[in-house]
Amino acid sequence: MSLKMEDQVKIELEKFRELVGKIRGYYEAVGLMHWDLRTGAPRKGAEFRSETIGMLSTEGFKLQISDEMANYLEYFTKTEIAEQLDDLDLKIVKECKKEYELNKLIPAEKFQEFSVLTAHAQTLWEKAKETSDFTGFEPYLTKIVAMKQEFIDYLGVKGTRYDTLVDMYEPDMTVEKLDEIFSKLRSRLVPLVETIRASANQPDNRFLHQIFEIDQQEKFGLFILEQMGYDFEAGRQDESVHPFATSLNIGDVRITTHYLQDDVTSALFSSLHEGGHALYEQNVDVNLVGTPLAEGTSMGIHESQSRLWENMIGRSRPFWERYFGDLQQHFGPQLKDVSLEEFYRAINRVENSLIRIEADELTYNLHIIIRYEIEKMLFNEGLSVKDLPEVWNAKYNEYLGITPPNDGLGVLQDVHWSGGDFGYFASYSLGNMYAAQFLHTIRKELPQYDEWIAEGNLLPIKEWLTDKIYKYGKSLTPSEIIVNVTGEELNPDYLADYLEEKYKEIYKL
Ligand code: ZN
Repeated sequence: MSLKMEDQVKIELEKFRELVGKIRGYYEAVGLMHWDLRTGAPRKGAEFRSETIGMLSTEGFKLQISDEMANYLEYFTKTEIAEQLDDLDLKIVKECKKEYELNKLIPAEKFQEFSVLTAHAQTLWEKAKETSDFTGFEPYLTKIVAMKQEFIDYLGVKGTRYDTLVDMYEPDMTVEKLDEIFSKLRSRLVPLVETIRASANQPDNRFLHQIFEIDQQEKFGLFILEQMGYDFEAGRQDESVHPFATSLNIGDVRITTHYLQDDVTSALFSSLHEGGHALYEQNVDVNLVGTPLAEGTSMGIHESQSRLWENMIGRSRPFWERYFGDLQQHFGPQLKDVSLEEFYRAINRVENSLIRIEADELTYNLHIIIRYEIEKMLFNEGLSVKDLPEVWNAKYNEYLGITPPNDGLGVLQDVHWSGGDFGYFASYSLGNMYAAQFLHTIRKELPQYDEWIAEGNLLPIKEWLTDKIYKYGKSLTPSEIIVNVTGEELNPDYLADYLEEKYKEIYKL
């Protein structure tokens, strides 16, 4: 006697979930090895480790595109079977199908070659950045760009070649939409930046650049992470050249920061930023664990969470009404004569700086527009990698009026390209825009928002974000989230309004 169809579906579903879990397992191992490489693994082991990373990634990849997976996808998408699946299982099947189709188009040996190449390149990049050696790094970057171009051919050109890359990080986002959003944003921010530059009320931030003991910086950063609700039993903070967050599973979401002895807030704001990413991943609904839905829905929404915590909360006046006293206590002599107002204005000083991750909230978007334009030139307009430093320096001069003195402070400053992450940078500005739109809604729905922050009562905010955004993981799309939470599609005016209001007050315009 054969099993009832209902029982058969249950059995198949269990086996399918097992396969999906196994794939996640490989990626968890790879994630841990990447974390280890960047937080203190011995340099001499890096080459062998890169090979291992390539090998394990390939195993995970092979399962994603296996015949076994193909059979399950075919089975579960049959109408009479799909009808018996619940909403969650349907979404898991849909996500696996998307991954399958995307990955099936790239030959497995190409994928392995790329994993090994980028693992090597990331290690070499750290050294190249330290020594400002673009020429030494150039052959690797050239190879990475060439492979990305090949991948675009495999995946199919969507609109323009660069569209294919943008879509990987922000589903349904296009170069056409980005051009429009960025031009709208630029038209409101550029005049604001110009007015600020001309203002006579420039905040003095020299006191932020005394010598600040690193172990005190670390203690204060850990305290703030705890206050925002980062769960140290489900994560840890280490140090790396470039701060990052990595989610191994919802019970192990790690972050890093980078300390500068002569800057009291650089590491702190990195902690808040990566902490924002981590809160998202730590609070994904437990029912999504072991599935491809147990992560942030897109890079843009992810960045909205890091930027919300770093800037909209961490660089707000109420936040420092509560925490400035604590900061002063950690660094007695250096900050004892600084007032709260002086400190608040100093951390929000608008400056035409060279380094993106240290840029203020306002000019930050210009750093992104530069990278967005350069990437478009690389993939759509035939810009050669060897000309990158020249183009980079020219754009910094044009947009920010400064020229990097060396490539370490210029074109080599970001980790992204060494990992092949082209198309990612736009997410940072999208994140700012999503965040400002979320903030507008938070203020409407939680009228005590500012009071709570001034009291250090940050957990209700984390709860609200969990309820509206975090818990859904990837089970909702970016545009479903922004529309569900705020009632409208992405609108860059919220960011422009927020920045205008904040900076006009600070600069007394
Ligand atoms: Zn980030």
